[in-house]
Amino acid sequence: MLLTMGRGAGKNNLSKEELRDNKRERDAANYQRKRTEITRKNALAQIAAPIIACPCGLTYKNYKEGKRSHYKTHKHELWEEETEQGLVPLVCQKIKQANNTETARLFINNHYLDNNKFSAAEKMGYVAKFVRLLNKLPDKPPPPLRKVKLFIRKAKPDTN
Ligand SMILES: [Zn+2]
Repeated sequence: MLLTMGRGAGKNNLSKEELRDNKRERDAANYQRKRTEITRKNALAQIAAPIIACPCGLTYKNYKEGKRSHYKTHKHELWEEETEQGLVPLVCQKIKQANNTETARLFINNHYLDNNKFSAAEKMGYVAKFVRLLNKLPDKPPPPLRKVKLFIRKAKPDTN
């Protein structure tokens, strides 16, 4: 009876090869079970994931894979490159008609088109040159100071 208990060669009357085959089968079954579990968990996470509006202008489903694949898109990489190089603030600093992110974006997009940069990949390859060109421009003059009128109200007399 003791001979059939425990593990290892000699303890359960199985040869080394049989033990190895058994272990291989157990491992394969465990792997399959875990894989199914992980696939199911990922599918559920994907369904439940909220949709995120990325500052790059695209949206993605906020779960591990969705986020990772979004970060690999050309459009997101372009946005990252532009942000890293400080393109929008630089345009606001140098270009008269760009006063905020929206007008700076308009200028940037027009400049890309004027220079035949149409795809995100083409634009990405151009960002460094764009920044160099902008840096050669003088800063735009500060906006004229606005006149501010001050009104002084007389305090109301106490009615009591
Ligand atoms: Zn993005």
